Amino acid sequence: MISELKISRHDIEIIQAELEANKPYEACGVLIGIIDGNAALVEKALPVTNSKRTRRSFELDPKEHYDAWNEAERSGKEIVGIYHTHPVSSAVPSLWDRETMENAPSVWLIAGADGMRAYMWENGVKAVKITEY
Ligand SMILES: [Zn+2]
Repeated sequence: MISELKISRHDIEIIQAELEANKPYEACGVLIGIIDGNAALVEKALPVTNSKRTRRSFELDPKEHYDAWNEAERSGKEIVGIYHTHPVSSAVPSLWDRETMENAPSVWLIAGADGMRAYMWENGVKAVKITEY
């Protein structure tokens, strides 16, 4: 069970810039790093094309997602989480997010109009603490 997500100011800024650049659509990407005990340490936030490009949901472009997974694997890292943006709503999982989270057991970082929050599915949506490093 992951209870903490450690992420650099630089990566937070990348995600924030993606939120602005893709407004009013949702942006998404993967968080590459390592799992250390109950913490996910993000070493790189990598934007991935939202192949759905809607205001209410997202889908990581499968080819880019696969390439990111490969890149992480090659350097001995893993995809510790995914992020997406809610440009016009708060950083709270939507019904669609909740249903999708249940089948994607990693940390979900949501950058909303009111800031960033992280979650993980563990018999329901659990909050994950974000620590900046
Ligand atoms: Zn969402």
